[in-house]
Amino acid sequence: MAQKNGDHAEARERLDALRKEIAHHDHRYHVLERPEISDAAYDALFRELTDLERRFPDLVTPDSPTQRVGATPSALFVPVQHSERLLSLDNVFDDDELTAWYDRAARGLGRSPPLVCEPKIDGVSVAIVYERGRFVRGATRGDGTVGEDVTANLRTVRGLPMRLHVEGREDTLPEWLEVRGEIYLPIADFERLNAELGDAGRQLFANPRNAAAGSLRQKDPAITAARPLRIFFHGLVHAVGLTFRTHHEMLAHLRTLGLRVHPRSEPQPDLASARAYVARLLADRHALEHEIDGAVIKIDPLDAHTELGTTSKAPRWAVAYKFPAEEQTTRLNDIMVSVGRTGALTPFAMLEPVRVGGVTLQMATLHNPDEIARKGILIGDMVVVRRAGDVIPEVVAPVPSLRTGSERPFVMPDRCPVCGGPIERPEGEAVTRCTSLDCPAQSLERIVHFASRGAMDIEHLGYSTAQALLDKKLVADVGDLFSLTAAQIGTLPGYKARSTQNLLKAIEAARSRPIERLLIGFGIRHVGGTAARKLADAFHAIPALARASAADIAKVEGIGPVIAEAVRAHFDRPGTLEVIEKLRQGGVRLEEDRTRAAGPLTGKTFVITGTLTSMSREAAMKRIDALGGKVTSSVSGRTSYLVVGADPSSKLDKAQKLKLPLLDEAAFLAMLGDADGAPAADAGSAEAAGEVGEGVRPEPETAGA
Ligand SMILES: [Zn+2]
Repeated sequence: MAQKNGDHAEARERLDALRKEIAHHDHRYHVLERPEISDAAYDALFRELTDLERRFPDLVTPDSPTQRVGATPSALFVPVQHSERLLSLDNVFDDDELTAWYDRAARGLGRSPPLVCEPKIDGVSVAIVYERGRFVRGATRGDGTVGEDVTANLRTVRGLPMRLHVEGREDTLPEWLEVRGEIYLPIADFERLNAELGDAGRQLFANPRNAAAGSLRQKDPAITAARPLRIFFHGLVHAVGLTFRTHHEMLAHLRTLGLRVHPRSEPQPDLASARAYVARLLADRHALEHEIDGAVIKIDPLDAHTELGTTSKAPRWAVAYKFPAEEQTTRLNDIMVSVGRTGALTPFAMLEPVRVGGVTLQMATLHNPDEIARKGILIGDMVVVRRAGDVIPEVVAPVPSLRTGSERPFVMPDRCPVCGGPIERPEGEAVTRCTSLDCPAQSLERIVHFASRGAMDIEHLGYSTAQALLDKKLVADVGDLFSLTAAQIGTLPGYKARSTQNLLKAIEAARSRPIERLLIGFGIRHVGGTAARKLADAFHAIPALARASAADIAKVEGIGPVIAEAVRAHFDRPGTLEVIEKLRQGGVRLEEDRTRAAGPLTGKTFVITGTLTSMSREAAMKRIDALGGKVTSSVSGRTSYLVVGADPSSKLDKAQKLKLPLLDEAAFLAMLGDADGAPAADAGSAEAAGEVGEGVRPEPETAGA
C-alpha cells in the first residue's frame, strides 16, 4: 500500500517528539539518576518509536535513541573504553513474544537450541577486569562503548573478590578476565537507607536500582562502603586461555573462581521448560532478596552466539522477559483521611488512576502524618507508587523535580472527618484517633470486623449490609445484630426472602462461636487470636473478664500490662456492658466450660528441654496434659518443674538461675507413674520410681543430668 504524504509528515513529527522525549528521560535516568517516569512508561515510549521507525524506515536517523545503547557518561568519573560493547537486551512481554524470539533464533541456526535462564536483577550493569587473578578495574555500562571508571567504589562491594580463588596452582588463573555483572542493593537495605535519608530530611530514592546507581557513583568511596551493595556475575567478555562450550558451563567456572553467580541461573533443555522457569520465577518474585524486573533467557551453546550475532543494539541470542511493572509514576491528586474501627485516622492517597502490578490503582496508603512528612510528600506531587504482591499499595516517594509550585502540604484535620468529633493523639503514638463514641465510621468498621471470618464469621455481613443496617438505624452496635428480625432485614436494599434467611442463618450460627472469637470480634486493641485464646482459657466467661482488674488480667500468662490495660479500657468504655447485655439477651454464648477434670498434676506447670529417650516430646506433653498438668515453652518463675532430657538448651541455665526444681527423665517417668497409679515405663519403672527423691533436685548445684 502506498504511503500517503500526510501519514509520512505526521510520522516525522511524532518521531521527532518521541526522540526528544526519550533523550530527555535518558538524561534524567542515566546522568541525573532522577528518572521522572517509570520503566514501563519509558518502555512504552521506546516501543512506539521502534514500531514507527519500522513502518517508516526512511525516517530512521543516526541520532535516534534506537541506534544507541544507553547514555553518555558523566564528567564525574574517568571514562573507560569497554573492550567489547555492552549491549542491552531486546524485551519480550509475554510467552507469545518469547516463542517468536526463540523461533527466529532456531530458524537462523537451523536447530532448536537449549537455553539458560536467570533472574533479571533490577540493578546496575558493570564490567569487571581481573589481571592474573587480581581485580584491577571496574566500569559502569555508560553508553555501552564508554563507561565510567568506578574501581574505587567497586572495591567496597561485598561479594566482589579482590583476588580470584585458585585451586592449586597460580598459573591456572586466566591472564586476563573480563566479566559482567549486576550491582544491586538488597530490598531490606534499600528500605533501611530510605528510612535514614527520610529521617535526615533528604530526598528518598525511588527504588533499589536508583539507590544502587547513586551509591555506586559516589565521589567518596566511604559513602559507597556504607551502603551494602552486592553483585552477581552473569556474563563473560574475555578469558585469555579459557574456552567454554556453553554459557552455563562458563557460569559454573566463574563460580569456581569465587565469583558470585545467581543460584537461580539454570540451564533449560527447551523452550517449554524455559517458559515454566519464567512462570516459577514470577511466582517467587518477592521471595528474592533483591528486586527483579524479569528473566533473562539466553541460548546456551556459545557457538550459536557467534552464528546468530547481534543487531546494532542487542544480541540475537538473548532476550529479556519483562515482568509487569510494580512501580509507576502518577499524580497525587489529594490526601484523604479514613477512620477505622478503633477510631484511628489514616491518611491515604487519591491518585490519578494508573496501571501497576496488573491492576488500576486509585488509592494507596500513606500510613500516618509522620510518614508523609518523612517522605516529603506534597498534595499535587508526582509520586512513585508501588504495588507488589500481597502488600498494600503504597506511595514510595515524591518526584520533587517535577513540582510546579502549586503543590501544598497535607494538614491533618483537627476534627474527625466523618463525625466531626474530637480527635487526639496520645503522646508517643504515631496514630491520631477519633474519640467520639458514636462515630458512624467506627461503628461501621466495628460491625464489619465483628462479622469477619477470623472473628464471629457472619457470612453475608460485609460493608454494604452493615452500612445499610446503620443507615436504617436497625443496629447501633454489634449487640443489636442478634435481635434483628426477618421483617427488618427484608427492608434492606437488595434483600429478598432467600437472602434474608441466609443472613439470619449466618447470625444464628454465630451465637455459638467460642468466646475467644467473640473477644476477637470486640476489636480490642492488641488483642488478636493468641491473646483472645489466653484470656478465654483463663476466664472462660466474658462477664468474669469484664469484672477483672487490669492487674488480674495481667496475671494471665502471656498477657502483658499493655494488653491488660487495653482490655480493661475496652470494658470501661461507656456502652460496652450494654452491648454485652444485648449479646446475652440475643442468645450469644458468653461463657464456656474450658476447665478440664482436675488431675494429680493440676496446678503444676512443666517445661521440657532436651531429648527424652523413652517417649517423644509430644507424648510427654500429652501425658502431662492428661494428668491435669500444663506444659509451657519457656521457663519462668511460674514453672513448677523443668524436665531435662539429653542435650538440654539454655532453658536449663535459666531454670538453674531461678532455682527451679529439675526432673531428669527417670524422675519425670516416676512422677508420671505415681500420678498414673501405674508403672511409668515398660522397663525399670520400679528403679525409676525409687529415684524420685534423688531425681527431683531443688538445688541447682546438684543437677548433673
Ligand atoms: Zn469520628
